[in-house]
Amino acid sequence: MNLNVISFSATLALTLANLLTTADKVMNYTGSIPPKPDQSTIICHDNNWEVINLSEYQGYRIHKKLLPLMVKMRDTALQSGINIRINSAYRTCQEQGDLRASACGIGEYNLYYKPISLCFPPTEPAGKSLHNEGLAVDLACNGYAIFEYSPCYGWIKEHSAKFHIRQHELEAWHWSTTGK
Ligand SMILES: [Zn+2]
Repeated sequence: MNLNVISFSATLALTLANLLTTADKVMNYTGSIPPKPDQSTIICHDNNWEVINLSEYQGYRIHKKLLPLMVKMRDTALQSGINIRINSAYRTCQEQGDLRASACGIGEYNLYYKPISLCFPPTEPAGKSLHNEGLAVDLACNGYAIFEYSPCYGWIKEHSAKFHIRQHELEAWHWSTTGK
């Protein structure tokens, strides 16, 4: 290998290294893609975990890895006059259990085994919802009572993929990185 080739190789390696660093910066800017736990890996968290992993936004606690995507989506929508609000985000397992009881009924079957499609509104058991990881949000639209018929819903459906955010199949208002 002559000197020119060595020099060219070194330059190429540097350029590649710079490109990788730039790619990392872009990822950090938009927020790294949040983890995508399936329901078997969702757990109930304690106060220590909450302090480390959650940030507050609009009065709600959201996982730090989901927050940048939500902020970016909301800010982008605002530029088009679409005012998305957050109605619910992180929930403790206690809060999830209370919601589950009011949506599905009490007793072991209703609290833990009844399919969510038979509950109103559809509500996962405590420790089975991405709300318990701070990785799901329930959205609302300023000035509209029914989210499904609001301009926010139409806007989010059209643009959400860019922000790695997907809708739950049974709930127009529930959005997460997995659609669960
Ligand atoms: Zn939800």
